[in-house]
Amino acid sequence: MTRLGIFPVSYKVRGKKIIIVGGGAEALAKARLAIKTDAHVVVIARKIEADFSSLDLENVHFDVREEVFAAHHLHNAALVFVGDEGPDAEIAKRLAKEAGLPLNVVDQPDLCDFFTPAIVDRAPISVAISSEGEAPVLARLVRAQIEAALPLHLGKLASLAGGLRHLVEKLIHSGDRRRKFYQELLASPQVEVALGAGDQDKANQWANHLLVDHANVDQRSGFVHLVGAGPGAEDLLTLRAQRVLQSADVIVHDQLVPEGVVQMGRRDAERVPVGKAKGRHSFTQKRINKLLVQLAQEGKQVVRLKSGDPMIFGRAAEEIEAMDAAGVEYAIVPGVTAAAAAASDAHLPVTLRNVASGVVYATAHGANDTAVTHWATLAKSGLTLGIYMGKSIMKEVAAQLIAEGLSSTTHVGIVVNAGRANSERCLSSLQEISNQAPQLADGPAIVFVGEAVASGKWLNEIEQPSNELELDGDTRPDMQVA
Ligand code: SAH
Repeated sequence: MTRLGIFPVSYKVRGKKIIIVGGGAEALAKARLAIKTDAHVVVIARKIEADFSSLDLENVHFDVREEVFAAHHLHNAALVFVGDEGPDAEIAKRLAKEAGLPLNVVDQPDLCDFFTPAIVDRAPISVAISSEGEAPVLARLVRAQIEAALPLHLGKLASLAGGLRHLVEKLIHSGDRRRKFYQELLASPQVEVALGAGDQDKANQWANHLLVDHANVDQRSGFVHLVGAGPGAEDLLTLRAQRVLQSADVIVHDQLVPEGVVQMGRRDAERVPVGKAKGRHSFTQKRINKLLVQLAQEGKQVVRLKSGDPMIFGRAAEEIEAMDAAGVEYAIVPGVTAAAAAASDAHLPVTLRNVASGVVYATAHGANDTAVTHWATLAKSGLTLGIYMGKSIMKEVAAQLIAEGLSSTTHVGIVVNAGRANSERCLSSLQEISNQAPQLADGPAIVFVGEAVASGKWLNEIEQPSNELELDGDTRPDMQVA
């Protein structure tokens, strides 16, 4: 088993100095990290060469001293960085060691008492990622992933939570329920939006509202989030969808939402598949509406997970109407709709200067003759059609569009399993399809019709990413992250 050669700690620097010896680029890089703290940051060098004025020094206690390094510089120091070579560096190293101060010498790991990690800064919350100096590039990639996963305003949220702590302890007695409150506070889009807009009062109001709700747990009002799950790949969920999923008590999901996406929900959330697969209505829409209302009235946090975007061919209207009628509170989280994912897969700009001035999302399922006439008119006037639920009746639709006067040479592009690893696409024409429906892979499909379709990349024109590892000097294939 690999063990850590370092012990990660959070080291107090408030009211103390961080000393940086050197005036070059390395010293500047360390200064950039040091000024994230509210320590007094002092750079000392005989000659200052780097441009320290490029630092954002607002509200930072920062000094640059063009001086010979001496013992008195270490007075009240918490940490010492040495970024240069030369006589001052040697003196600084010796004096820091003698004074027992933690020392970091750039590019000399043997002389370092500590390493500088990659830092995610959401003050007062911080995350430090260290690879013991071995794989800094990998550490930075890990940092990028953590950056993306944490709400932007986590720091403000932590301060807000800190301010509520005593009240939370007074009002909620069970540790379990307290954890639940914090979990929901972290996931609350209302609090996030208020913090993002810099409206601290509003954020406090929402947080208090939530707290009161949790304190009165027995009469606690439930809440429904209608959430767009995107086209089926986990990483096409929005961060908000992911956060809401993390605080769900119950996840009510469609058949079209793959297991991997449902799994992004809180581990102990109850899962209800309402399986509206084509030709298999295991739950009627009415029953789903009723279920949502009932769960919310039981005080549950409900996520109604729908494929793509909930407001596009998702029967959201019925669910919204039922919740409005019952006075259930709800919010809607958008998702990447299938046609958007399909256009990306096919490298197809659905609007195109001088070719397509717009795009129409239409459903073939249940479309009557009037609807098809209407689409034909729109396509003739230069709009791209993105047809949902048209896979099994493509042949009939193509013939109808021709009958309505669309040119039989009009391009048709089909994307099956858009946005997913097994996505497939092919190009055809109205004529070809009206003669014979193409052979397609299993899975849901979007059918694009219009002149712009030709500008996409179809069949095998898109190169698949290769699986081979490309090594650059900084990464090793055998590297492991603890
Ligand atoms: N609300 C969804 C649409 C649901 S209707 C959205 O915004 O995407 C179901 C239809 O969506 C399917 O019949 C199919 O036409 C389309 N669809 C859903 N997921 C898809 C995917 N990954 N690839 C291609 N089409 C998809």
